[in-house]
Amino acid sequence: MATAERTTPLDLLRADFPALDQEIRPGVRLTYLDNAATTLKPWPVIRAVQAFDAEYPANVHRGIHALSERATEAYELARAKVARFIGAEDPEQVIWTRGTTESINLVAQSWGRAFLKEGDEVVLSDLEHHANLVPWQMLAKERGLTLRFAEITEDGRLEPEAVERVMTDRTRVVAISAMSNVLGTVVPLEPIVAMAHERGAIVVVDGAQGVPHRAIDVSAIGADFLAFSGHKMCGPTGVGVLYGKREHLEAMPPAWGGGSMVMRVTRESSEWNDLPYKFEPGTPPIAQAIGLGAAVDYLSKLDSGAVAAHERGLMEHAHRRLSAIEGVRILGPSPEHKGGIVGMDVEGVHPHDLAQLLDREGVAIRAGQHCAMPLHQKLGLAASGRASAYLYNTTEDVDRLADAVDRARHLFK
Ligand code: PLP
Repeated sequence: MATAERTTPLDLLRADFPALDQEIRPGVRLTYLDNAATTLKPWPVIRAVQAFDAEYPANVHRGIHALSERATEAYELARAKVARFIGAEDPEQVIWTRGTTESINLVAQSWGRAFLKEGDEVVLSDLEHHANLVPWQMLAKERGLTLRFAEITEDGRLEPEAVERVMTDRTRVVAISAMSNVLGTVVPLEPIVAMAHERGAIVVVDGAQGVPHRAIDVSAIGADFLAFSGHKMCGPTGVGVLYGKREHLEAMPPAWGGGSMVMRVTRESSEWNDLPYKFEPGTPPIAQAIGLGAAVDYLSKLDSGAVAAHERGLMEHAHRRLSAIEGVRILGPSPEHKGGIVGMDVEGVHPHDLAQLLDREGVAIRAGQHCAMPLHQKLGLAASGRASAYLYNTTEDVDRLADAVDRARHLFK
C-alpha cells in the first residue's frame, strides 16, 4: 500500500478489501479484473457476517429469545437497506433469493405459470445471460409460448427500437438485461419499460451487472421485476434479490412450499403468509442477507457519481491501451455506452490460453462464453476474454492487463 503522504482516496478504499493485498504466487501480485463474475468483499461485509456467526447465530422469525430477536432485527434491517438502495417503496417488495438466477426462475415459475398462456410472447435480447434465457425457454416449452429476440447493433448496443420491432400484440413480457456481462453494454431501460407498458407487457430486468454499478432505481424506471445478486456488489455469495411491484407479488402464487411461507396449515391445505415471506420458505440465507445489507451501506457511503466517473475512466484507458495492440479486437460498444466490462478477441490466442498467460502475471480475467452462448454465436466467436473492473481497480491494473495481453499476443505471433 502507498506511504502515508502519498495515500489517495483510492488507496484508502483499496485497503478495505483484504483480498486485493496479496501475492497469488511468490513475487506475483494480484490484479483482480474478474468483477463481473464476482466482486471482492470489504471489511465491513466480512465483519458483519462474522459478527452474526460469532455473536447471534440464531434463526429468524421463530424464537422469542434474545439472539433470535437480534438476528431477526438485523436481517429485516438488511431488507430495508436493500429496498432503499434500489428505490423500492416498501421492504416487503424485496424477496430474498439465492441470486439473480433464482430470482428470474421465481418470476417465470410463479408469475409466468399463473398468467401466461399458449401463444403469448416473451421478448428477450441478443445480450441475455443464460439466467435470463433458460427459465423462459423452459416455460415456453411447458406453456406453448413464443420467444422473440431483439437484435443488437453491429457495435453491440441495444436500441429501444430493436425491442419495439419484435413486440406484437401477443407480447406479455419483456425480459431484459440492464448491462451485458459480455460486452458491457448499458441498456436504456427507461424507454424500453415505457414502451412495453404502453403495449401492456410487463418488464423483468436482469440487474446482475446493472445494480452493482448503482444504475437502477426501480421507482424511476418503473420495472415490474428486478433481479440481482449480492456477490457481484461486494456482498456474500448465496444471497440475491427479487424486487417486484406489489400488485404482481400479491397476485403471484408461491413457487415453493415449506415452513415460514404459510399462515395456517391443515392436513389438506395451507394459507399463504404475507409478503415477502410467501416466497421465502425454510431458513433463509440469514448471514448472507445481513452481509448484503452491510455491502449496501458500504456502497451508499461512496459518491456514486465519482465511482461511475472512475469506472468510465478505467474503461476509456482500457480501450486506448488494448486497441493499440495489433490483433486485439475489443468487443462491444465504445466506453460511453458501457459499464466496467471489456470483452476481447485476440488474434491467434485462444481466450483460455490468454487467461492462463495473464494469470501467470497475476492478472485475473475470465475466458469462455460467460453463460451467453447465443451471444457468442451471434458474434461468430467460440469464446472470448473478459476483463471487468469495479470501484477498487486502478489505472495501473489496466496497464498490467494491457502489458500482459501484449506479451501474450507476441508469444503466439
Ligand atoms: N445475469 C447476468 C447479466 C450475469 O452477469 C449473471 C452472472 O454472471 C447472472 C445473470 C447470474 O447471476 P447469479 O449466478 O449470481 O445467479
